[in-house]
Amino acid sequence: MKVAFLGLGIMGRPMASNLAKAGHEVAVWNRTPGKDVPGTRATASPAEAASGAEVVWMCVSDTKAVETVLFGPNGVEQSLMEGMIVVDSSTISPAATRRFAERVKARGVAYVDAPVTGSKVAAEGGTLVFMVGGDQAAIDRLGPLFAAMGKKIVRMGETGKGHAAKLVMNLQIALIYEGFAEALTLAVKLGVETPALLQLIESSMVRSGVVEYKAPFILKRDFSPNFPLRLMHKDIRLALEAAKDARVKLPALETVEEIYEMATEDGHENLDYAATLTLLEKWAGVEVKGASA
Ligand code: NAP
Repeated sequence: MKVAFLGLGIMGRPMASNLAKAGHEVAVWNRTPGKDVPGTRATASPAEAASGAEVVWMCVSDTKAVETVLFGPNGVEQSLMEGMIVVDSSTISPAATRRFAERVKARGVAYVDAPVTGSKVAAEGGTLVFMVGGDQAAIDRLGPLFAAMGKKIVRMGETGKGHAAKLVMNLQIALIYEGFAEALTLAVKLGVETPALLQLIESSMVRSGVVEYKAPFILKRDFSPNFPLRLMHKDIRLALEAAKDARVKLPALETVEEIYEMATEDGHENLDYAATLTLLEKWAGVEVKGASA
């Protein structure tokens, strides 16, 4: 298929690369030039990338970025043609998505929100899980593209429901990770060796995908960004905003948000969100290590 891929960050670059490797004709664009992807055609604007494309796929930071890519100067809107499909794999506000979709659909173009879970490792391996909102017919047409980038699609409902589901997924990831980080910190303080604790977690009902993904990085003290703290912070805020609108109280997430606020004040926003552990360590006066010194 002819695809325009917009946004070549940690997630977008490997996603576009996997589309090209699967034989699709891919035109790419990134706000900051110089992030070319082998097997794709680099373009100078979202409008140029989208021109003649059957599908326009976005993966950019936040709600504002999606709005700019779609409707800003030289935005996708200029190149919309009836029958196209616009897909958004960024994590953004479900309410804004419904507004964007209405404007795009008025031009005879389908709009599918398809945020992902799996982080950098799954984006590179083509094993992302997509949570999707939109018309079934459009989703079916996207089948070969989903297959090139992911291992599973779950349809959550109409447009906007993919992003709603993504917020509740990241709410859980943020809380599970914070629970894990607090457990690691207290364990060190109580004299429990981290490798033994990890073995115990793996064998028990406490095991989780979050722990499996993050533990090897923590043991290496590698907090380079797979999922940057600033983006998880954005998602926590989006979930709190959605909860406020829906009159739902989320006391645990509110507390975790404060930890992200303090981590940001400490200058950790561009590290992985796993770096929130370092605050707990600082407060406790300990460091989580792979093996005893
Ligand atoms: P990233 O590495 O920070 O990349 C962000 C991308 O958005 C870059 O291409 C950036 O362009 C572009 N961008 C930012 N502001 C823009 C604007 N105003 N106009 C146009 N482009 C703009 O982020 P990422 O990790 O790839 O994440 C992308 C999206 O996927 C986010 O919504 C994130 O929450 C979501 N997500 C990430 C993960 C993960 O584990 N990393 C997992 C699931 C979902 P420049 O290069 O010019 O800065």
